[in-house]
Amino acid sequence: MSLAVQEDWQRRSLGSIWHPCTQMARAARLPPLPMARGEGAWLFDHQGRRYFDACSSWWVNLFGHSDAGLSTAIKSQLDTLPHVMLAGCTHEPAVRLAERLSARTGGALGHVCFGSDGASAVEIALKQSFHSWRNRGRTEKHEFVCLKNGYHGETIGALAVTDVAIFRDAYDPLLMRAHIVESPDSRLNNEAQALAAMQALLEARHDHIAAVIVEPLIQGAAGMVMHEPSYLRGLRALCSEFEVHLIADEIAVGCGRTGSFFAWEQADAVIAGPSQDDRTPSGGGARARAPGGQQSSWPDFLLLSKGITGGTLPLSLVLTTDEVYQAFWSEDVSRGFLHSHSYTGNALACAAANAVLDRFDAGQLALNREQSALLAEAFLSPLAGDARIANLRQRGMVLAFDVLDAGAGFAERFHLAARAHELLIRPIGHTVYLMPPYLIDAPTAQFLVEAVRATLSEVLSHAS
Ligand SMILES: *Cc1c(COP(=O)(O)O)cnc(C)c1O
Repeated sequence: MSLAVQEDWQRRSLGSIWHPCTQMARAARLPPLPMARGEGAWLFDHQGRRYFDACSSWWVNLFGHSDAGLSTAIKSQLDTLPHVMLAGCTHEPAVRLAERLSARTGGALGHVCFGSDGASAVEIALKQSFHSWRNRGRTEKHEFVCLKNGYHGETIGALAVTDVAIFRDAYDPLLMRAHIVESPDSRLNNEAQALAAMQALLEARHDHIAAVIVEPLIQGAAGMVMHEPSYLRGLRALCSEFEVHLIADEIAVGCGRTGSFFAWEQADAVIAGPSQDDRTPSGGGARARAPGGQQSSWPDFLLLSKGITGGTLPLSLVLTTDEVYQAFWSEDVSRGFLHSHSYTGNALACAAANAVLDRFDAGQLALNREQSALLAEAFLSPLAGDARIANLRQRGMVLAFDVLDAGAGFAERFHLAARAHELLIRPIGHTVYLMPPYLIDAPTAQFLVEAVRATLSEVLSHAS
């Protein structure tokens, strides 16, 4: 373990790898950190230095690195059946995973399609929505609606419903046109206005609109922009009224991140299935089946990826309703949903996801509630009165604040400075956020607030 080894990997990486989300011409000034191993919330480099993974390695690593339970599940699957194609074959890990996720919606979203990563789940949902309308003779419904500053991934279809200029502008000529509507933002107190804008668009264009796609409760890549569950209830009502599908992209906010297993559960406590409280039997599940043919309160599509395998293997899922599923039911192959990826329903990834669900069955949400309270306790009083920041906000295991007078290149400077404080953290613009593994105890929360404040002081005192 030495500096020479560290620098060798750095040099070879820059020489051979086209790093994601990176302008390679600038990468030498912000060299990638070669990591040798991970243990719990900590990553270790080749010099033996450690870094707290404050963003769960792009929001995937729910239980930290090298988690023993996930390792065991994957190893045992590896020795049994690592992979088999899911066309013409099936396997236990995929079936169990689909059944368990469906049960967590009380059966409301009972049909599960597999993708390989978040963006492919978005592609699947857009295609399914459009194709289901088409199969019902509504061929003119081929437009999509997304929210301002929303993020849904970077393949061509997903990028078309993404409103983050830095990712999309260069490809604009390639993208289908989507409607972009004002997003709710608790900082602006604009929920009614955002819903009114959505209503106006749906009133005018619903005959042409297939679906609205939204990140429930938190727009992650926009900079942890939060809104209230009441917005989601309003949006559900509008989509039902105007016969437009609602796609809940829970790729970042699913899997317990916001306090419930699905963020959507907070939109209506009544619809919550067994996941709302892991230990208490709930009658809510039956309600989700929408008795009497009423519209259920769930979205028409719900997407998961990122945390679903706890940062071990790529996997995504698209959950949808029986109504959507039935639109494809036919002897005619071309009316079917033929979309596939080589690794669709990969057994190793499904085994990892089942191990993640085991944790939630064993009471993970209660632990998360304790941990988010610890984060709040540690951060609120020292930072609430700090004149250098604004909009300190938290939802479940996401905590964020905006830095005032951050200066140019703040995110990069903060990220670099934080490394010296044993913190791996990547601000978005002038927003600093924590989206840590679910491994927070009181000393860790204290470490985090001290490391964040020390970094902030350092970066702001050097601001030009
Ligand atoms: C990360 C993310 C995606 C894209 O997932 P990838 O696995 O990176 O393709 C889509 N939507 C949201 C909300 C995300 O956070």
